[in-house]
Amino acid sequence: MHKQYETVIGLEVHVELATKTKIFCGCSTEFGGAPNTHTCPVCTGMPGSLPVLNRKVVEYAIAVGLATNCNITQYCKFDRKNYFYPDNPQNYQISQLYLPICRNGHVDIETESGKKSVRIHEIHMEEDAGKMIHDEWEDCSLVDYNRSGVPLIEIVSEPDMRSAEEVIAYLEKLRMLIQYLGASDCKLNEGSMRADVNLSVREVGAKEYGTRTEMKNLNSFRSITHAIKAERERQIELLEAGQTVVQETRRWDENREESYTMRSKEDAQDYRYFPDPDLVPIYISDEWIEEIRKSQPEFREAKMVRYKEEFDIPEYDIGIITDSKHMADLFEETTAICKQPKKVSNWLMGETLRLLKEKSMDAEDIVFSPEHLAKLIGLVDAKAITGTVAKEVFEIMFEKDIDPESYVEEKGLKTVNDEGTLRKTIEEVIVDNPKSVEDYHNGKEKAIGFLVGQTMKAMKGQADVGLVNQILKELL
Ligand code: ADP
Ligand code: MG
Ligand code: ZN
Repeated sequence: MHKQYETVIGLEVHVELATKTKIFCGCSTEFGGAPNTHTCPVCTGMPGSLPVLNRKVVEYAIAVGLATNCNITQYCKFDRKNYFYPDNPQNYQISQLYLPICRNGHVDIETESGKKSVRIHEIHMEEDAGKMIHDEWEDCSLVDYNRSGVPLIEIVSEPDMRSAEEVIAYLEKLRMLIQYLGASDCKLNEGSMRADVNLSVREVGAKEYGTRTEMKNLNSFRSITHAIKAERERQIELLEAGQTVVQETRRWDENREESYTMRSKEDAQDYRYFPDPDLVPIYISDEWIEEIRKSQPEFREAKMVRYKEEFDIPEYDIGIITDSKHMADLFEETTAICKQPKKVSNWLMGETLRLLKEKSMDAEDIVFSPEHLAKLIGLVDAKAITGTVAKEVFEIMFEKDIDPESYVEEKGLKTVNDEGTLRKTIEEVIVDNPKSVEDYHNGKEKAIGFLVGQTMKAMKGQADVGLVNQILKELL
């Protein structure tokens, strides 16, 4: 009989902070931009240049630390992590080893197997590296330092997770907290949130952890899930064959769905860490922490409770709407304008979720404004447009936030409730569909539904359904 194995997973999550400028210089952090245009002597590592710490980075790090129940290290420092690679122009990365800004936190997650607390070992601040571009055509490598010096926090968990499901729940929770704080947009596909997965296996009941590997280059929840499954199987196979797992860094190949060795895992000593002499230690006062604590936003749990009291919408809707700060803001702002929480919720739960899924977008990417959604709801309420037309207009609004009122006007999408026009169309439908008419007269009530459908089709969805029904019955 085969042995039973348990998967043990700890995550190192890098998050790019949403500051306007870099961590140690005034260069822009904006994504994109022509190569090496967001650079200066500091972030290109010129000799003699000196770093100056961006205060906002410290504030974001404290805010994330408080949201994840960490202790704030009130006397904290930066260290140099030495390594040699062209993406790192100083030949060291400014990071924190000895006194990271946050320690000993936890994040509560919920999965099908229940509630659980994942401990956070630490959160530290550091600078991002530049980007290497290996040009196979020209047989050369290029480097872009626009990303060099972009502020990061690294959130290191304890090895407390036991399945891919728990890993995803943990990442979703982190992402939600950080997005609520506005500290980052946390996009895995754009690299503003990056997760390294440390994984080992051990026999069920064993006390010691097994040897772990670290997997990099995982840029979607899907690849994280696949990588965990594949790595668990690879390690079990090795152990079953009497071999050992080598502690190393592996790179996940999204296309081949397998990982390969990238390098043997360095220990901290390989990096010859030492305190950065160019930066003074940071002292974080009680008052500063209190100030940040007071300005924390209302997080999801509190929001859910308040929504239940304030708005008459199902608990299920509340759960989904508050899952994203942006969606929750949209809901509240639209409702404040049109005073119809259920209708707003219906648009978010229905069409919005459908389109997000269809276009594989995040709720954070929604572009339509609360004003325009409120107007659209108003148009339907006033029977100026039909539900069918409203959905069409919404699709356009979802793409580029048009004003639904002027759009409806411009495209002539207003509902026809002029009896004469409707009567004429319905008469034609009756002539064209003798079979349904006969069915109706033979007592098949349902046949009328088909005739209504045909009429709406002829009217391109722009007819008042109530009126269509009324006239149909009359004419039949
Ligand atoms: P290093 O500094 O060498 O990267 P750390 O102790 O900082 O090692 O751990 C890095 C990550 O690996 C942490 O998220 C931790 O939870 C996880 N980890 C450590 N040991 C194991 C293990 N045996 N199995 C799975 N994950 C582990
Ligand atoms: Mg580490
Ligand atoms: Zn710079």
